[in-house]
This record gives sequence, structure tokens and C-alpha cells, in this order.
Amino acid sequence: MIDFLIIGQGLAGSLLAWELIQRGCTVVVIDNGRENASQVAAGLINPVTGMRFVKSAEVDTLLPAAKRCYLHLAEFFQQAFYIEKPMLRFFLGDNELKNALKRLNSRDYQAYLGELHVPGNGIGPLAAPFGFLEQHQTGYLLTRPLLSCLKAFFIANDSYRQADFDYRDLQLQPLPHWRDIVAKQVVFCEGYRATENPWFSRLPFRPVKGEILSLEHRTALPDKILNYGNWLIPLNAHQIRIGATFERDNLNTETTEQGKNDLLNSLGRLSADLTGATLIDHQANIRPCTQDRQAFIGRHPEHDNLAVFNGFGAKGSLQIPWYSRHFADVLLNDAPLSQTCNIQRYQALLTRRPTL
Ligand SMILES: Cc1cc2nc3c(=O)[nH]c(=O)nc-3n(C[C@H](O)[C@H](O)[C@H](O)COP(=O)(O)OP(=O)(O)OC[C@H]3O[C@@H](n4cnc5c(N)ncnc54)[C@H](O)[C@@H]3O)c2cc1C
Repeated sequence: MIDFLIIGQGLAGSLLAWELIQRGCTVVVIDNGRENASQVAAGLINPVTGMRFVKSAEVDTLLPAAKRCYLHLAEFFQQAFYIEKPMLRFFLGDNELKNALKRLNSRDYQAYLGELHVPGNGIGPLAAPFGFLEQHQTGYLLTRPLLSCLKAFFIANDSYRQADFDYRDLQLQPLPHWRDIVAKQVVFCEGYRATENPWFSRLPFRPVKGEILSLEHRTALPDKILNYGNWLIPLNAHQIRIGATFERDNLNTETTEQGKNDLLNSLGRLSADLTGATLIDHQANIRPCTQDRQAFIGRHPEHDNLAVFNGFGAKGSLQIPWYSRHFADVLLNDAPLSQTCNIQRYQALLTRRPTL
């Protein structure tokens, strides 16, 4: 018998499994091996976002936990996964400039905001008609190499099975039982595919599709992340990733001409020079967003040994490390689960009987 059976090897399932193994638990992770949202994601961490430049909830707690986690993984696997890089935020109008000025005067924001550049002067080939602001403590996670290192670690630890998990194959009594595996606890981390889960699909997921492009170019760009409504990450002197679209309909993982054109048009408004860039890759996947924008974590109200760890939306890189530790404390030490993410808020939905 094992302690935990985890369904899904995206960032959520991987970091939770890693945390539980670090604490001495026996874990098996099941994944179908197909490309997932975590691999496609840009992995950006940006503490201050939106037109009003608002600090992400709990960022003062989440960010140090994320950095510690990625540093620990970097030491273990002897390679860097989290790349810290400042971000230049280009204002899209006067109101954004005004909002940024307000935040610059607030002590709460000092650690995250840097120099403000007034409208007019662009920076090199980049247009900045409304000015721009330097942001600190921003960066991105190299999710694909991280997930492949963790997969290799799970395999070496006899903690990984590649399989399409069919919910009908899970027997619940007397303990959860799948194929030859009996587990004390099953934790579902299937990303947007949780919408097919018979125990947790009633949680109000609001999946959002996103597309990302990789381009090659010959323009001299600053070695900083750029945010101009969309974002640009310089991978090296000649390669960039740009993204990402937000699409609530047509929830599939196909890339589209519309998605590509939207991203390229927005890049062209930032710099005419970049319109000559060559497309080298185009990817799409689906973010596991939720109606109230909070994660979905906790045990099922009627099946104590089934749990969910999901709903990290567009902020998995920032949130998952802290929540993995927190949920491990809940699962192993009976720590109280934070109310914000606790699925108890949807108890009525989870226990409702179908109407005949
Ligand atoms: C285009 C795009 C850009 C993004 N950009 C960012 C960003 O810049 N910063 C950021 O923090 N986040 C970003 N995200 C969001 C980020 O991807 C998520 O927050 C996070 O990766 C979700 O991880 P997850 O493990 O919950 O889901 P996933 O990564 O989708 O993993 C779920 C896993 O479960 C497996 N699975 C599901 N059902 C089954 C089954 N029945 N049997 C076997 N396996 C199963 C899937 O195959 C998958 O491997 C982006 C997402 C997209 C799509």
C-alpha cells in the first residue's frame, strides 16, 4: 500500500508529489504523457498586474516560497529553473501612468516597482508613447526542463506510471484501489481535465485557452521581460517567446491563425522592427482557471480519501510551491486548510444529488 496516488504530472501534481516524497511518503504519479498547460506555459511570475497595478493576493508570502522551492530544485538537479529578470511595463494609456504613479508612492509596492519613464521617449526600437515602468522581482520558470527532471526523478523512485487514468477503474472500498495500487489517499491534479472528474467536476472551473509564439529576430532588445498588454520573454539574443491569448470559447489545444495574428499585431505595435521576426513555434493549451479565481484544494466532503489540488489558473508558477507545502501540512499533520482555497466553499455543489 502507498500513501498517495496523484493523478496528473503538471506543475501541481509534480510539486505536490515532490513535497510529499521529501517528507518521507510513498507516492505514485499517473500521467498520460501528453503535452500539458504547465509545459506550454511561459512560467511568468509578475507580482504587480492589471491596469491598476495591483499586487497579487498573498504575493509577499507566495513569492519567497516559490523562489525557495525553485532554488532547492535547482540545487538538487544541478540546473537553474527560475530565471529572475526585471520587467518593463509599457503603459497603454494615461490612466495606467496615473495608476502607476499612485503605487510608486505606496510603501507596500516599493520592493516591486522601479524607475518610471515619462511618455515620449521609447527605448531603442520599442515605442513607449505613454511611458513605461521598471518592475522588480519578476521572472519566469523553465517549466519544461523542470517537469522532465521531476518525471525522471519519479521514474527512478518507482513513483511514476504513464497511463490514461480511467475514473471507472478506481475502486473506493475499502481503500482506493487502481490496478495493482492501493493508496491511502488519491489526489487529483488533472488541470482543466478535472471537468471530466466524476467527484470534482461540479467545482466551478472556467478553463481559458492560451496560445504562445516563439520567434527568431535580429532586433537589439533589452535583456528584460517586456509587458505591453501581452508579454515578451527574451530567451537569448535572437529568440523570444510572446504571449499569451485568452480565449474562453473553443476550448481545445489547437493553434489558430487568429491567435497568431493577434499576438503578432500586438508585437508590431510595440516595435515595427519585430514585424520581420520569423515564427519558429506556436503552441496552445488550457489554463485551469476557476470562477472565483481561487484554487480548488481539499478532500471530498463524502469521500475523505479523494482530494483535489487544482485551479491555479494563470498563476501556477507563483502559487503552486506554497500551496504544495500547505496542502502537505494539511494531509500529513491535520493543519487547517486556508479558507481561500478550501473547496468547502462549494460543499453544496459537491454533495448535490442529481435531480431526476
Ligand atoms: C498559454 C498558457 C500560458 C500560461 N502562462 C503562464 C505564466 O506565464 N505563468 C504561470 O504561472 N502560469 C501560466 N499558465 C498557467 C499554468 O500553465 C497553470 O497555472 C499550471 O501549469 C497548471 O498546472 P496543473 O498541473 O494544474 O495542470 P496541467 O499542467 O494541465 O497538468 C495536468 C496533467 O494531468 C494530466 N491528466 C489529466 N487527466 C488525466 C487522466 N485522466 N489520466 C492521466 N493524466 C491526466 C494531463 O495530461 C497533465 O499532464 C499558462 C497556461 C497556458 C495554457
